[in-house]
Amino acid sequence: MTSIYWLRNDLRLHDNECLQRMLDTGQPHLMVYVFDPRIFSMLDIGFRKSGFLRFQFLCETLMDLRKNIQKIGGQLMILQGKPEQVLSDLAKKVNAEFLFFQKEIASEELAVETALKEQLPDHCSTQAIWGKTLYHIDDAPFPPKETPLTSKAFRINLTKKTAVRPLIDTPTDLSNSIEFREWGTIPTAKEIGFTHEEIIENTTNHYEGGETTALDRLQYYTFETEQLTNYRWTRNRSLGMEYSSKFSPWMALGSLSPRLIYWEVKRYEKEIKKNASTWWLVFEVVWRDYFKYSAIRHGNKMFAEGGIKDRDVDWKYDQELFDRWRFGQTGIPFVDAHMRELNATGFMSNRGRVNCASFLTRDYKIDWRWGAAWFECQLLDYDVCSNWLNWNTQATEIWYTNPVHQSLKYDKKGEYIRTWIPELQEVESALVHAPWLLEEKETISDYPHPIEIYKKWTRSINNIKKASVG
Ligand SMILES: Cc1cc2nc3c(=O)[nH]c(=O)nc-3n(C[C@H](O)[C@H](O)[C@H](O)COP(=O)(O)OP(=O)(O)OC[C@H]3O[C@@H](n4cnc5c(N)ncnc54)[C@H](O)[C@@H]3O)c2cc1C
Repeated sequence: MTSIYWLRNDLRLHDNECLQRMLDTGQPHLMVYVFDPRIFSMLDIGFRKSGFLRFQFLCETLMDLRKNIQKIGGQLMILQGKPEQVLSDLAKKVNAEFLFFQKEIASEELAVETALKEQLPDHCSTQAIWGKTLYHIDDAPFPPKETPLTSKAFRINLTKKTAVRPLIDTPTDLSNSIEFREWGTIPTAKEIGFTHEEIIENTTNHYEGGETTALDRLQYYTFETEQLTNYRWTRNRSLGMEYSSKFSPWMALGSLSPRLIYWEVKRYEKEIKKNASTWWLVFEVVWRDYFKYSAIRHGNKMFAEGGIKDRDVDWKYDQELFDRWRFGQTGIPFVDAHMRELNATGFMSNRGRVNCASFLTRDYKIDWRWGAAWFECQLLDYDVCSNWLNWNTQATEIWYTNPVHQSLKYDKKGEYIRTWIPELQEVESALVHAPWLLEEKETISDYPHPIEIYKKWTRSINNIKKASVG
């Protein structure tokens, strides 16, 4: 008999319980990744569930993983199709006794798990292993279905009563692999169905997928440059690679384990410095856990029109407004700069995400689910729980975020705006935050005028005027 390990969003060798459990069987094994065409399918709103930049990041991740597995004598099979079908065929072929995989949380992924269980041959049983959070689900002091409703109650309950588990050793030998003649190739963008227009050549993509770069980034941000020491005070910025950890793209595909981050931060606290920044980074990773546990509690409500709080909002479905927003053409530079960065790189700072989500839902009043779907398509770090529940929060739970005020506050000199909006490069004064205030003769002809200047921005606009002459 043999064991199969179906890799999903756990594309790493370090701290990997599924991998460990598969090796513990002592059986010849098969590690396999399946490209599911449904992940790249076209949505009714006219774009894909997962866009080209995400596809590219995934391909890099798989290439790196395959190389690292081969270095220690193993192989990674890469197939295409619906995992439930592909894997049940494979289980028959290799006479598998066990099929290991990392348990997912949201309904689409769970439906695949259910279909897989139904289709597998009788001799093969599924082994769904938890591995997505910093705090293991079996250690939580509450049943996941009763996850506390506020992040504070969640954090205090969990972190005071539970310990983070130690790391699982990285395997050094994967040579007990089943022999195959063909291991499959990573599909090209064309094979997936991306059109010429969708394929972004020479991307300004600063993020390279894979466990190798993930581990490099972790060391770079912590021990090499000690940027972690300043995280608390820089985390709300938007420009460049240095203001926050940028761990999220690798965490989303599982190339970086939250437990490894935690234990490296603990080591940093001992060897370099313990301060508000080190506390805050762990706090954010716990915040990520909160959304995973909350998703278990709320289920499909996290995708519902009224959100998890059942809000009754009269959303608009205006394609033109939505396109202005998603292509960075609203005329509000702080929003546009962030949307353009997202579209060009697959990343946007947390400050940007808060502002862009708030603008779409509170100012344009567009259904938040359209915005969440666009982020899903574009974000390298797309994670179903973090994305849809953060959108829930911005659209239906917390107060309004004023993008004009935040622009002056978080990008005082307008450097971020000028980086991403070349039309505004020549605007030197604080009016870069509100270019509609420029005199007639200075008006930027190729940058759009906002559809509406809201009264609620008056104070912020006055501050910009003051700053522009001061
Ligand atoms: C509308 C909206 C959508 C979002 N969608 C996603 C998403 O799809 N995937 C995703 O990983 N994050 C999402 N976030 C959360 C957050 O913006 C990103 O995790 C963060 O910007 C990633 O950058 P970083 O790794 O440098 O974060 P850091 O500030 O360095 O934080 C370290 C880690 O903590 C976690 N984290 C930080 N903030 C949050 C948060 N608000 N919610 C959950 N986890 C957090 C991330 O794993 C992050 O890598 C979203 C936020 C908003 C407001």
